[in-house]
Parts: sequence; C-alpha cells; structure tokens
Amino acid sequence: MSFPEISRRVEELRDECLRFLIHICSIPALGPTNQGQGEMEKYHVVREMVRSLNPDSEVEVHAPDDRVPDGVRPNLLALFHGKDTSRTLWILTHIDVVPPGDPSLWDSDPFKPLVKDGFLYGRGVEDNGQSLAASIFAARAVKETSGFGINVGLALVSDEETGSLLGLDYVLNQRPDLFKPDDLILVPDAGSEDGDHLEVAEKHLLQVKFRVRGRQGHASAPHRTKNTLRAAAHLIVELDNALARRFPEQNGFYSPPASTFEPTRKDANVPNINTIPGDDVFYMDCRVLPDISLTSVLAEMRSVAAEVGERFGVEIFLEEHMKFQAPPPTPADAPVVLALAQAVQEVYGVQARPVGIGGQTVAAFFRKRGLPAVVWEKIVQCAHAPNERISIENLMGNAKVFARMMI
Ligand SMILES: [Zn+2]
Repeated sequence: MSFPEISRRVEELRDECLRFLIHICSIPALGPTNQGQGEMEKYHVVREMVRSLNPDSEVEVHAPDDRVPDGVRPNLLALFHGKDTSRTLWILTHIDVVPPGDPSLWDSDPFKPLVKDGFLYGRGVEDNGQSLAASIFAARAVKETSGFGINVGLALVSDEETGSLLGLDYVLNQRPDLFKPDDLILVPDAGSEDGDHLEVAEKHLLQVKFRVRGRQGHASAPHRTKNTLRAAAHLIVELDNALARRFPEQNGFYSPPASTFEPTRKDANVPNINTIPGDDVFYMDCRVLPDISLTSVLAEMRSVAAEVGERFGVEIFLEEHMKFQAPPPTPADAPVVLALAQAVQEVYGVQARPVGIGGQTVAAFFRKRGLPAVVWEKIVQCAHAPNERISIENLMGNAKVFARMMI
C-alpha cells in the first residue's frame, strides 16, 4: 500500500472529518478558570470517535477537579499497535478552548462553526480542533488501508489553555510509563502559515514586578514629593538600554533571534491629575536565550534599579512574578524531527527547519522529562482571536502529514 493511496483515503474522509470538527467545536469546552464547565461533554464525543477505530488499548487518566460538575478533567490515551512495536508515534492535542472574548468582534456565533470559501470559522477550530480531528482521521485512514508501521498513540488532554496541570502534566505524573525517550512525540498546537517551522526549543521566561515607592503630594509642589511615575519612566528607559547592552547575544535558531525584555503591564496609580503619585508598579516580560542565566538578568535589573532609585530618591523593589527555565531543546536530529520534516516535504513540498520560539508550549512538559517533542502544524495562525478560522486544505494536508508518519 503506497502513501498516495493512503492520501486518497484521507481525501475520501474529508466531509466526515469536517463534520466531526464542526460537531466538537459546537460544544464549548472551557476550563473553570475561564468560567466554564470543563471538557466532559466534548470529551465524550471525541472518545466515541476514537473508540470507533478500535484502539488496541485505551487509558483514561482523569484529574480530579471539584470546580466542574463532573468532578474531573478528562484525559484519554489510545494506542494502536504497529508492525514495529518498539516505538510509538504520539500525537498530543487538547480538547479545551479559550473563551470567545468580545462577541461583537465575531461575524458569526463562535460556537456555531461556519464553513465559508474553503475556511471553517469558530472558537477552537484552529486551537486545537484542526489537529485533533486531523490526528484521529489520519489514524483512521491508515488503519483502513496499510495498517500502522509503528505504534500510534493519540493523546487527547484537558486543561492546556489554563496551565496543563490537570492535563498533560497530570498524565505524565500519574503514568510516566506511557511515554518513552525513544518515542516520537508530536504536539501540533502551534506552527506557521507555510508549515516550515519545526519548533524544538523555547526561551526562558522571566516576569518581574517593579514597585517604586516615593512620596505622594500636590502636583503644584513637586519639591515636597518624590514622583514615582517619573522614576518608573526613567527606570524603564535605563532597563531598555542596560539589558540590550549587557545581553546582546543573537541566535538565528530562535525567532526573534535575541532575548527580549518588554515592559508590559502598568498598574493604575493616582486617579486624579493634580496629585503626584507616590507608588507605581509596572511589570516586565522577558524571553531570554537559554544560554543566558536568569540570575544574571535579575542582577542587572537590580543594579539599574539601585542607580535610578538613588538618582530620584525613591525605593525600588523587584519581585519575581514568574520564572520558567526552558528545558533542554529537542535535538534537531531527533527521529521525530527527521520523520516530520520528511512527511512535510512529501505532503507540502516544503523544506521545514527546526526553530526555537519565545513562547511556552505544552511540549515543555515532555522536554522537562527528557522526552523529545516537536511542535508543528500548518495553520492560518489565528488562535485565541475573534473569527478564529482554519483552511480546510490545511486540515486535509496535516492529516496526510500525520498519516505519513504513522506508516
Ligand atoms: Zn492550543
């Protein structure tokens, strides 16, 4: 059985796959942190579809959560045996979605998926419905034609959008035996429009809260105050200059290639214009190349803060809001990277290359445990946005890429 025949089978399943995707995306699956009821209703539909393929084994690893009506966040791992049973190709997708956001920004009901001009619109169609449906229908096409070359595991998890602690992280803690370092682990939950990015590495994440304390007073008498907004403004400029000077390293493997140090949130200070603020809080979000230690970044920030504090007669306190050390990257020549690159080349005629990104993905939970995972999909790139959409061609193409890796 040649791959073109399997490809044809995927095409024959186009309407059914699309119908399934429309069905699951019409069921909101929001975690309780997003004021939702959890994933259970959608999970049942997904599980039924997976069960219709008669997997050789199936494990449900439900994470207790008393905030949802069913009391658990469901996770499913279904395994199909291949001719070579020494390794498993795992495809991990998530069932939960993010809220639609401001409804007035949507041209249609986010939970009534709509097909228009070759696209499907709706909340969750891209993130992560497209890959979820594509992985199941790829397995079906392969099962109905050539059979699996290696073991294939479909992992369908909850809680990805709100931290994964009750999703993949829970599964890996409860059942560390399920995944092996020799397995091929694919997480199709981010990608590029051309499908040419194989994401194998992430930067460190560091979020820091800066609090400037001075003296509040009347705006007409600044000499009796210590203006914290002015000090904060200078501090931001000095941090910009100092961090760029101290950490200029570039690594073309990452996008963007340098570390980034962005001032982001600014808390409200005084409500009126004629008061000089005596207390200001802002935050920085830093994505740091893995070779740079976060300790050295924090030390540089502290030294700049001390200098600015002294210059303006204010006190500046730094607090680590969030710190996440990037796990070691998946090697660029890991079997999953090579197999995926070959499949992408065959299906899309695209030469994909391994890259690093600034954001955090769920693949980090695998990498942290020494399991080589790669993040890939070909997408429109509109996750979490209003009018989220996928191209139906990508849905089919990605299913073929997954199928290619299964034989
Ligand atoms: Zn996602």
